[in-house]
Amino acid sequence: TAEKETLGFQTEAKQMLQLMIHSMYSNKEIFLRELVSNASDAADKLRYEALSNGELYEDDADLRVRVTLDKENNTLSISDNGIGMSRDEVIANLGTIARSGTAEFLKNLSGDGKKDSQLIGQFGVGFYSAFIVAERVEVFTRRAGDAPSSATHWESSGEADFSVEDCEKTDRGTTVVLHLRADDTEFADDWRVRSIIKKYSDHISIPVQMLNTPPEPKEGEEKEEPTFEAVNSATALWTRPRSEVTDDEYQAFYKHVSHDFSPALNWSHNKVEGKLEYTSLLYLPGQAPMDLWNRDAARGLKLYVQRTFIMDDAEQFLPLYLRFVKGVIDSNDLSLNVSREILQQDPAVDAMKSAVTKRVLDMLSKLAKNDVDKYQQFWKAFGQVLKEGPAEDFGNKEKIAKLLRFATTHDNKAEQTHSLEDYVARMKEGQTKIYYVAGESHKTASSSPHLEVFRKKGIEVLLLSERVDDWLMNHLADFDGKSFLDVGRGELDLGDLEDEEEKKAQEVLAEEHKDLVERVNTILTEKVESVRVTSRLTESPACLVVTEDDMGAQMRRMMEAAGQ
Ligand code: ADP
Ligand code: MG
Repeated sequence: TAEKETLGFQTEAKQMLQLMIHSMYSNKEIFLRELVSNASDAADKLRYEALSNGELYEDDADLRVRVTLDKENNTLSISDNGIGMSRDEVIANLGTIARSGTAEFLKNLSGDGKKDSQLIGQFGVGFYSAFIVAERVEVFTRRAGDAPSSATHWESSGEADFSVEDCEKTDRGTTVVLHLRADDTEFADDWRVRSIIKKYSDHISIPVQMLNTPPEPKEGEEKEEPTFEAVNSATALWTRPRSEVTDDEYQAFYKHVSHDFSPALNWSHNKVEGKLEYTSLLYLPGQAPMDLWNRDAARGLKLYVQRTFIMDDAEQFLPLYLRFVKGVIDSNDLSLNVSREILQQDPAVDAMKSAVTKRVLDMLSKLAKNDVDKYQQFWKAFGQVLKEGPAEDFGNKEKIAKLLRFATTHDNKAEQTHSLEDYVARMKEGQTKIYYVAGESHKTASSSPHLEVFRKKGIEVLLLSERVDDWLMNHLADFDGKSFLDVGRGELDLGDLEDEEEKKAQEVLAEEHKDLVERVNTILTEKVESVRVTSRLTESPACLVVTEDDMGAQMRRMMEAAGQ
């Protein structure tokens, strides 16, 4: 229908809007980054669709974004000639927050403005950020290929509802008009807006243009009309040589690809030539996204083929245990018509995946070596994910093992800071195994009675307390030629760590208490496999031990939790 309809925002969208307006006051200017980013995405999408249907360009193939200011009416407009939206798309995209996990996100809010604004940023503020500075927002949009008469006008003041109606629009694409709040008139100021564009949108690969100011005419000459000129440098950042890109530019680009408000921890930018030709720009985020544990959460890289955008979230280039990595891959070998299905079968993709995996692991080792604090920050956020690595990627097991960090009896702290290399360096003479104990929490692990003898002898034991640890230990098997041994399992053979005297004393004890052991054995016969005298304990009178081939306690809890 051509009629005007008024629709209510989705409840969650409404909450997001309110939150955004109230918590972004200290960082208002980011709305421009978000809207320019959307315009650039729309240009990418048009270019992609036009690969199979050139008519979509409608004789206007120079894709660009234009920002115009009107001081008198206090408006700022952002206009693109990208893909545009149909009426249905407008309702779907600008009336809901389609991203999964919105409800989850809202639950996580603390009510503390500062913390919440960080969370929002992490979530990706997107189109709604317009309401940070605008009391009313209008969108005029026409999808590429649609008739000028079937364009759509959307309008809202960012409260409960929005309206949509049909309208005329000659040019393809989208214009967003912000009616600025009385407090935010600075965003109608030419100089201010230019500097924001330079700051946040320089890496955008299409020109972001503003009207220039022609010089005052000399006597007798006519006044020149202002024309549109690019404010940004308009080259895709990853195509530039590494030496010419500043850290700030890398960080700004990170925000564009990641929706993450906080800065990236590190990145790796590489142009690969030879059998395969591609450029990759890979980022390590500084904090975990809310949906890290959501199986359906978007992950993967932005895929370009010869600088043409192909798709977001191309997951074929990274293993699951590196799903936190963000970035771009631009290939010269793939076809422009590549689809997700084709990606799954292409051997070139496998080759790129293994090369990209190595890059990420190298970036992590370098970070671990050169910046311990940053590496700890990484480990806190993503350590549990990386622990899935040895099971998924046997070929890189050694490399991943070196990146792991553990809590150990060396300092008994809960924080996981010790590497296996540290552990091995501190091993006692005669020690051939890496010992560990697993518990439901760090506290249970570190107070396990199985540790008594190790404490007494000063032998270090890894303290494991995460769900993934049993899984990890099952696949890790050994490190640096030393096998791992769960001290809570089976007969404890300390090998050379046990001296002869202790062994003798043990035998004497066993002999002395034969009767007692037999009696306990009979009483517990239904409940345990056997009862033994032990040298494990120095303080506790007794403890339970799992046999070698039994499942680990953690694993058993995991299976129980999974309903098995
Ligand atoms: P995101 O960009 O992360 O998807 P946004 O809130 O920024 O989230 O935008 C929501 C959706 O609205 C986009 O995914 C896109 O489909 C649509 N959209 C926003 N701006 C434009 C635009 N300028 N041209 C076409 N579609 C747009
Ligand atoms: Mg966006």
